[in-house]
Amino acid sequence: MQPKGPMEDGGEGRRGCGPLIPPLSDTLRPLRQQVFERVRAAGLIPRVQVAKDLGVSPASVTTITQELIEAGLIEEVAAPREGDQGRGRPAVSLGVRANAHRVAGMKLSDREHTAVIVDFAGNLIADDVIPRRPGPMALDEILTAIQTLLDRVCAKAGITRSELSAVGIGVPGFVDTVAGMVMWSSVLTERAVPLAAAAQARLGLPVTVDNDANLVTLAELWFGAGRGLADFAVVTIEHGVGMGYVINHRIYRGTQGLGMELGHTKVQLDGALCRCGQRGCLEAYIADYALAREATTALNWTHREGQSISVLLESLYDHAKAGNTAARSIFRRAGRYLAVGLSNVINLFDPALIILSGERMRYDYLYAQETLAEMDMLAIQTGRPRPPIEIHAWGDLLWAHGAAALALSFVSEGLLVPAREMAAQ
Ligand SMILES: [Zn+2]
Repeated sequence: MQPKGPMEDGGEGRRGCGPLIPPLSDTLRPLRQQVFERVRAAGLIPRVQVAKDLGVSPASVTTITQELIEAGLIEEVAAPREGDQGRGRPAVSLGVRANAHRVAGMKLSDREHTAVIVDFAGNLIADDVIPRRPGPMALDEILTAIQTLLDRVCAKAGITRSELSAVGIGVPGFVDTVAGMVMWSSVLTERAVPLAAAAQARLGLPVTVDNDANLVTLAELWFGAGRGLADFAVVTIEHGVGMGYVINHRIYRGTQGLGMELGHTKVQLDGALCRCGQRGCLEAYIADYALAREATTALNWTHREGQSISVLLESLYDHAKAGNTAARSIFRRAGRYLAVGLSNVINLFDPALIILSGERMRYDYLYAQETLAEMDMLAIQTGRPRPPIEIHAWGDLLWAHGAAALALSFVSEGLLVPAREMAAQ
């Protein structure tokens, strides 16, 4: 025994040092959640490999996987033999039990609403799209749209709504995911709408909501180019300009869930008017409504209320391709502002990859060689290569997949981390 010296327990207690990480947090997940997530990410994986990957004993993995199998979340699968593996006994791997749960993911946008249904292993079962008239809707109207679309996509999947375990919904705008609140969205007439609770009451299912840019980031993290990257940025250019950021394989949302609003960072004092009500936002220079505004002025086009902005932009793009100087200069100017925005992202985060995503990426003038060269000039000069930029011109289905990933993590975390579910309520 050590003698008790005067420095020990000197009456004032000890404050300790180092970060105060709560026992159940994103950075310190329970082992059963880590095991489940490892199996889900691998697709199929032998027990011994799970133990190696997580740095724990095979015995504890065996105990935990037995629990997960009994709970019906994972299953044993006879794996095809590779090389000299599995000599003697048949090789058995673990995989997520795909039928254990089904979830729906939905993207509500100014142009159309999209939905997918995926199983617990992330396989697509059905998808559907409903076009809509542009413009904001009242809460009741949007709930009806959600219900209609959900019932349609369920019918396609051959299931009833009650067979779903959760629904993830993405909307453009400012969203507090933890509180389930939409603080502002171009698809809603009101501000500060408790969309998750309202949709949950209407559908009779657990609902989570998120910003649509976070959903496309989740889609890249779960199904796309971001699966193997610890940190990367996704910049979306659609009706607005959004951004999602992954730090240490997890999406970063900020303290109030309102972070990463790249579209509303200011690029010009007292500049162009933005949909958010402020001036000089990046979005006010490169989003589709900004391009349409320029087109109606420079080319003397009229844009009727209710007319599809996509049709107008398509026409602007055709004019640019055909050599129309005014049309080209509109895209070129938007590209220059995009370069400012991207160089700021590089200077702030130093990401491993920047993915430019969204339907507007078909308009290649936005990311022409000149734009990227300008971005290089505005980024800090270190002599090292800048992060690679990838262009993903995927449609709304990708965004809905991200919403499904949101719902999947909601379901699995609710099952694997009951304490956190209780704490969140
Ligand atoms: Zn703004």
